[in-house]
Amino acid sequence: MTAHARYEALRTANERGVRTFPRPTAADGSALPVTDYFGRNTFSLSMMSHKLPKPIFKKVRSAILEGTKLGRPEADAVAQAVKEWALANGCTHYTHWFQPMTGLTAEKHDAFLTFDGDGNPLEAFSGEALIQSEPDASSFPSGGMRSTFEARGYTAWDPSSPIFIMENPNGNTLCIPSAFISYTGEALDQKTPLLRSMQAIDAAAKSLLRALGNEADRVIPTLGCEQEYFLVDRAYWALRPDLAIGGRTVIGAAPPKGQSLEDHYFGSIPARVQAFMQEVEVELYKVGMPAKTRHNEVAPAQYEIAPIFAEVNVAVDHNQLTMEILRRVALRHEFRVLLHEKPFAGVNGSGKHNNWSLSADGENLLEPGHDPSSNLRFLAVMAAVLLAVHRHGGLLRASVASYGNDFRLGANEAPPAIMSVFLGDLLGKICDALANDSDLPASPTQAMLELGVSSIPQVAKDNTDRNRTSPVAFTGNKFEFRAVGSAQNPAWPMTVMNTIVADGLTTITGWIQEAGGGADAAFAAIKRAIKASSPARFDGNGYGDEWVVTASARGLKNHAKTPAALDEIMASSSIEVFNKFGVLSPAEVESRYNVLTEQYVKAADIESDLIRQLVDGSILPAAFDELKALSGVGAAAKRTAALTTAVETLETARAGLDTAWEAVHHSDNHAHATVTHVTPALDAVRDAVDTIEGLVRDSLWPLPKYREMLFLF
Ligand code: ADP
Ligand code: MG
Repeated sequence: MTAHARYEALRTANERGVRTFPRPTAADGSALPVTDYFGRNTFSLSMMSHKLPKPIFKKVRSAILEGTKLGRPEADAVAQAVKEWALANGCTHYTHWFQPMTGLTAEKHDAFLTFDGDGNPLEAFSGEALIQSEPDASSFPSGGMRSTFEARGYTAWDPSSPIFIMENPNGNTLCIPSAFISYTGEALDQKTPLLRSMQAIDAAAKSLLRALGNEADRVIPTLGCEQEYFLVDRAYWALRPDLAIGGRTVIGAAPPKGQSLEDHYFGSIPARVQAFMQEVEVELYKVGMPAKTRHNEVAPAQYEIAPIFAEVNVAVDHNQLTMEILRRVALRHEFRVLLHEKPFAGVNGSGKHNNWSLSADGENLLEPGHDPSSNLRFLAVMAAVLLAVHRHGGLLRASVASYGNDFRLGANEAPPAIMSVFLGDLLGKICDALANDSDLPASPTQAMLELGVSSIPQVAKDNTDRNRTSPVAFTGNKFEFRAVGSAQNPAWPMTVMNTIVADGLTTITGWIQEAGGGADAAFAAIKRAIKASSPARFDGNGYGDEWVVTASARGLKNHAKTPAALDEIMASSSIEVFNKFGVLSPAEVESRYNVLTEQYVKAADIESDLIRQLVDGSILPAAFDELKALSGVGAAAKRTAALTTAVETLETARAGLDTAWEAVHHSDNHAHATVTHVTPALDAVRDAVDTIEGLVRDSLWPLPKYREMLFLF
């Protein structure tokens, strides 16, 4: 065997040009401004206002903005209007677009085509078809849910996220954002609990506002996802089954350069990549996704795209669409996009920073105000987040636990697995003063003046210095949850965030009410919350070894690996908080735990198969070819010996992997046993392979190397 295919791939990748794609144009051929086609493929509120009779539009509008229920006549009217719009825009099919617990989106397409009584073809779409659909649900993961309850599930239209058209050169599809629920009402997806958590935090935040003498019609969590990803040339990808199937390189020696020169971050974007980004943006604009920033990330071949934030439910759908469109458009540019958290060992992994805040009738509750009373409100909401992270840090950690994210958290420039909050210098000092000083003046206004709290706005923005090592960082007017993995659906971490903050808000409201209400009571409650949650506040270096020791002394949890983190989902405090706020029943919690745990073991199983096949089919044959080429070359005795030893080490490690899986199958907790046995066994195989890569001549190495995939396209 030779490296023939690899060299072909190298040549192909390097000879590629920059794709010019058809941009939306006016009749005279000039490029349209984005505002002319933004949201063209969404059935937006303004579109509905034109197409629906006024009384119906009013009801639909309040269903969307206030979450009220929609009746059948309205649904029929919407269905009629949507159908006309879809047909006029080249759609032949419609689908309920939903987010099962696989972590991907799912769709089952139905044609509009049907026949009347006389057998004449016609296009039909009813309110019933819009509202509800029945996919064959039996093969989606349910974590045992449907065997206990009901064998079937259905998808239900979520009017709060706009219906959109997914374009395809050969015919378009109408996509209806939907929840996926069992017939007895259990959540089988990611959207249902997210919507419930939005209701929970809306109620909790309004109660707190009322206790502070404020009113709001609706409080909505907002989310802006910063999506990181890698690009590799398709030609390399096709020769790396580990990338193609597992999304990650399971073997590969470190490149000579790595990211040590730190020259990639915010560097100029290569032309071929920029063309890709521009086409992605055009596609996203058409479906109403407000892409805002694009840039290079820290690792070579790593990039980021971020939107303008939106209400959390819509932002999650936007992010799922972004991932899908990144995948599709990459192919047109002869790339493959890698959304995995750690595609390459030794360089940065990819995250999906979740910027989160609360909006009360459009006003950001985490925006420090201009006067003592709005700052009291700001401090109360901030303190609720502190309480949430302190009480439910384990659950928050669990919300980002996955096989892929384990490679990232705590490694190269990613936040550690310990959940803490960074507030920045100024807010940190304010909190310290509030937590320590029991002799503050009785009047909260006076106390705030003394602490400088009444003047937060002037300095807060500049003081939220960038601490990239913190998993939950306050960044001026929002919290940034940085531990979320790039491949994850953000719905689950946001569901947890909303739920635990609802708990924090409710606690503070209770303390205010117990003390008889009013500003004094509010101030005391804020102080109490800040004091109680002090251990979870940390502004130092989250990457340092000292933090691990300090955090443990503070009683903070540190689950480096997924199975232990997932166990936190089953902790009584987690089951209780989900149940108390109507987000997940105990049975639903357990089903999620089962699905996530099973996914972890499956991912390790797939990687083990991949690495075995690579070792047997590619690595050992290459090593034997090298040994053959060395035989009879007198001066090569030392090389031969070194390679022979490396091959023996690999054979031993390869056998060790099989033994590890036997141990897993004999254990009563497969997930934990996978960590104990399989993880080190996989590492041993990888080490041996990477040593061999250094001993086999280049012309005999069959797999694209790190230096090629990361630097040469
Ligand atoms: P960074 O410097 O970390 O890239 P940015 O200021 O660019 O931060 O914002 C990152 C993301 O945060 C963007 O998606 C932005 O829309 C979002 N964001 C800004 N304000 C809010 C908010 N109030 N709620 C949620 N997300 C927000
Ligand atoms: Mg950021």
